[in-house]
Amino acid sequence: MITTKTIKNVSNIYKAPAPHMVGDGFRVQNVFPNGNRLGKRISPFFLLDYGAPAYFPPSNKPRGVDEHPHRGFETVTILYQGALEHRDSAGNYGKLYAGDVQLMTAGSGVVHEEKHETEFARQGGTLEAVQLWVNLPKAYKMTAPRYQELSKDKIPVVALGQNSRLRVIAGSFNGHKGPASTFTPVNLYDIQLKAGDSVTLSLAENYSTGIVTLKGSVSYNETHAAKEVEIALFDTVGEEINITAITDATLLVLNGEPIDEPIFAYGPFLMNTEQEIIAAIDDYNAGKMGHLK
Ligand code: MN
Repeated sequence: MITTKTIKNVSNIYKAPAPHMVGDGFRVQNVFPNGNRLGKRISPFFLLDYGAPAYFPPSNKPRGVDEHPHRGFETVTILYQGALEHRDSAGNYGKLYAGDVQLMTAGSGVVHEEKHETEFARQGGTLEAVQLWVNLPKAYKMTAPRYQELSKDKIPVVALGQNSRLRVIAGSFNGHKGPASTFTPVNLYDIQLKAGDSVTLSLAENYSTGIVTLKGSVSYNETHAAKEVEIALFDTVGEEINITAITDATLLVLNGEPIDEPIFAYGPFLMNTEQEIIAAIDDYNAGKMGHLK
């Protein structure tokens, strides 16, 4: 029997707003929720900040974000350039270098700091990173905190086209499995396409799909073009997306099973109801999410 896959069409393309500072170490553009315009349309993904390459001069005091809490979701930090250092109240400590990915499940609550790595800060240099927030379903919002350090060598690299490649961070691509463990089904790909190269992705129907052009420009299905720091959202129906690079491009593909539950978000907490947000604030203030040692 011959089966024909159907095209997954672009539904909208959104441009990210101008950069803002997070702490004193991250100059980022909020690709989504982007003032809530994108709302629940990319569930289970809730937030994505992109820090385009930015130079930071030498500093003996590493820049970044001082200790702060999270509850109810997971953070995924993808480092493209530079070096970062992480500490949290669950006792996890780690350094990330270019190509590394870190997943932190905040679950019931974690306090952490996110800083430039000490030696990188001392020498100064260029930082480029993404931070993605992946929602947790109600059943796992209060799960124990977890920390996954996915060094570059653990992430499968699949060759594409003439000189292009796709890294599978989570989920699978053409039989290659990503190392990240997630609570709901997620495919997360880091793609670098050389100008003129193309790739066809085959993705499950009924999942949310967004592709962020971090750098360069591409065309989708020969019908839409997307430029730097734009996100293309795709219809839930259809399976195949053809991507052709117009210039050299770096893309992040987000594809996941939506979590069809209410969202109540406040600052660093992502819960289902206002009462749960109030409880999160109370628990943090009472020290129940711990502190950095
Ligand atoms: Mn944080």
